Amino acid sequence: MFQTTIAREGAVEGVGLHTGVFGHLRLRPAPADTGVVFRRVDLDNFAIEAQGENVARVSYATSLMKQGVWLSTTEHLLAAIFSCGIDNIYIDIDSIEVPILDGSAEPFVRLLDACGIRRLRRKRRYLRVLRPLEVVEGDRRVGIYPASEFRVRCYVDFRHPLVGQQEVEIAVGSQTFRHLLSRARTFCFERDIAPLREMGLIRGGSLENAIVLTEDGVMNGPLRFPDEFGRHKALDLIGDLALTGVPLLARVEAHKAGHSLHTQLVSRLLADPSLWTVTTSSQAISEREPAFADHKLSQPSVAAD
Ligand SMILES: [Zn+2]
Repeated sequence: MFQTTIAREGAVEGVGLHTGVFGHLRLRPAPADTGVVFRRVDLDNFAIEAQGENVARVSYATSLMKQGVWLSTTEHLLAAIFSCGIDNIYIDIDSIEVPILDGSAEPFVRLLDACGIRRLRRKRRYLRVLRPLEVVEGDRRVGIYPASEFRVRCYVDFRHPLVGQQEVEIAVGSQTFRHLLSRARTFCFERDIAPLREMGLIRGGSLENAIVLTEDGVMNGPLRFPDEFGRHKALDLIGDLALTGVPLLARVEAHKAGHSLHTQLVSRLLADPSLWTVTTSSQAISEREPAFADHKLSQPSVAAD
């Protein structure tokens, strides 16, 4: 497996959910080993790598910050890029927040489809988790465990007749993400709207970009899935895990977690190299699919570069 980028540029524009600032976003191809890099074109192309070391304040969305330059609400776009297998890409943006669009990752998946994928001449690297790591806060927790493929399981529990307990588990790939998670939208409770506005949040929120839950129903139905809430949380989790910077060979389980726990997990994981190793895909495949081991022996061996 080789690294990828997009084949051609693509653009989208819209308002940011929390800041209400209107922004223009353009995806551009990037060379091998660039990773996923945001560039603030309104600030001399200042680059902010989508990596754990640049995670800043995290509450209702995940924000990156580098040398005082911010970029908010990265999770839906990063979930789409990560799940679609794009290793290298520039995300040029002229505002402080990624457009929320319809509140899901579907518009970003469509944009990536339009851009196409180009294979690069460099081996893809994976971060293979060797030992478990868990982050716990009260009854909320998130853990990452060794596995031969990238899987997530997400459990949510909200006291609401339409939500309750929902659990979603998928092996993350472009097709599973596209069909099972990408269309799930962000949501909020009507009772939280005024307090969030007072905190300076959801200034760009509307019935077009978030599901609003009333006391016993939904203000702007219909839902796209009966368990759209659990699916959206899994989408958010993948978007935050993208901040590891390379594809994962690991199983991740989140129990009533959120952006804060997700990003703590990423930071602690990256801070302890005894928990993981970086491997090229050929090694990953030989262990994931032992049936191919003989076949691989007949191939020229590939050294990890
Ligand atoms: Zn979200």
